[in-house]
Amino acid sequence: MAQNDLFKKIIAHTKEYGYIFQSSEIYDGLAAVYDYAQYGSELKNNIKNYWWQAMVQMNENIVGIDSAIFMHPTTWKASGHVDAFNDPLIDNKDSKKRYRADVLIEEYREKIQLKIEKEVKKAAKRFGDAFNRDEFVATNSRVLGYQEKIDKLTKRFQDALEANDLDEIKQIIIDSEIACPVSGSRNWTDVRQFNLMFGTEIGSVAGESNTIYLRPETAQGIFVNYLNVQKTGRMKIPFGIAQIGKAFRNEIVARQFIFRMREFEQMEMQFFVRPGEEMKWFEYWKDLRQKWHFALGFPQKKYRMHDHDKLAHYANAATDIEFDFPFGFKELEGIHSRTDFDLSQHQEFSGKKIQYFDNELNKNYVPYVIETSVGLDRTFLSLLSNAYTEEKIEKADGTDTRVVLKIPAPLAPIKVAVMPLVKKDGLPEKAREILKRLQFDNNCQYDEKDSIGKRYRRQDAIGTPFCITIDHDSLTDNSVTIRYRDDMKQERISIDDIEKIVNEKVSMRRLLEKL
Ligand code: ATP
Repeated sequence: MAQNDLFKKIIAHTKEYGYIFQSSEIYDGLAAVYDYAQYGSELKNNIKNYWWQAMVQMNENIVGIDSAIFMHPTTWKASGHVDAFNDPLIDNKDSKKRYRADVLIEEYREKIQLKIEKEVKKAAKRFGDAFNRDEFVATNSRVLGYQEKIDKLTKRFQDALEANDLDEIKQIIIDSEIACPVSGSRNWTDVRQFNLMFGTEIGSVAGESNTIYLRPETAQGIFVNYLNVQKTGRMKIPFGIAQIGKAFRNEIVARQFIFRMREFEQMEMQFFVRPGEEMKWFEYWKDLRQKWHFALGFPQKKYRMHDHDKLAHYANAATDIEFDFPFGFKELEGIHSRTDFDLSQHQEFSGKKIQYFDNELNKNYVPYVIETSVGLDRTFLSLLSNAYTEEKIEKADGTDTRVVLKIPAPLAPIKVAVMPLVKKDGLPEKAREILKRLQFDNNCQYDEKDSIGKRYRRQDAIGTPFCITIDHDSLTDNSVTIRYRDDMKQERISIDDIEKIVNEKVSMRRLLEKL
């Protein structure tokens, strides 16, 4: 299936099956804002639990907090967001469409990269088993030409970003002959900086009000609480503080569904370390965070590490974990070595000493920080992109297709569907009896409407890993049929074994053990 079609299908599926709705849809929606529906909110909660348990529960030196969205305005002066949280924007004069200049250039670079991949594919086909990729890309003149183009562009773009040279960024767009995807023209405005923070007023008395911001990241809520947590938790370096919460950014181009929203959720952890030891911990967290994604069991080739061209004002190393979304490889998680920038800034702006006394070294210092920051919504989208499957199934009267969400069982919104084969003869009562038992541990669904085949399809479409069917025999032999979502296999099992079988497979432990 073409990737673009897949993306459209996923979006339509999430709406049709109660995962995600456009916000305020009855008023024609609000751009780049989405609501999580009955199954979406369950999946989101399960992802949060997986992250929280992996980070807080499984690490004795990490604790979690929940800080407020509103923070003292000086926070954002100190963090650099008031002065530097900008994106370079450019408008096409013909289509009147607005773009992020850096994204236009990155997409152009990605296109050249795709040309290389095309050459490689062609050659692999031609040479068969004898094909050696490394040798081919190192020697083929066409590939070398493309690579040189990429390298030159990267260097020029990097220099322009470093120097904050907006004219040069525009010139790169012009020299690369990048056209507006809507109008097809190259009639561009100048590049301007645009601050992404949403400002609002606090206080009801005119004149006394103050501009405050909706937080653009959850991290600062951790930094300003560093001293409180370290002291009350008697935390010893190295230690981490984790947080899950909403963040807000007035994105210039908010598209690609829940990939880039104006209100979204982050799962962030700041890990405080000794100065000089940050690179060791940077590597450690890069590795562990990759494992967290891999543990979901999807193909590892869907993930790749990407080192940043331009480091943010606070970082001395940064890597993204990128995921192959239906619209290409894009950032899913950022891992940053933030130095002592944030704590030092808050120390300076607040006038309060933010230091750690290291008993072993017998000295005070401002800790260095490694941050892991993953988008909850992007993780959700990566999961759906992996899980959405269309399958042909052979039936006696021809073939049929089923759409199934192969969500890892511990994260599935509904774990078990309980179904009486027919709506009479005491089967519904028996089914509800079983449902009541399963509900103590799991989110379950009772379904007695339509044929059993249709009911299985409905559960496949929302990703329920187990269906339990109660038939007439169940009343006498104390057994039921369990049907597995992924291979559609059916088994006869004792009613007394249902909880054991289900609980073992849906336990978060199955994911956590892989870390
Ligand atoms: P991008 O380059 O895509 O704008 P970023 O580098 O600004 O992302 P970070 O500031 O590192 O992102 O934020 C950490 C994580 O928060 C990202 O990896 C992403 O998963 C998530 N995130 C950031 N912005 C958005 C958004 N507008 N909508 C949804 N998730 C987001």
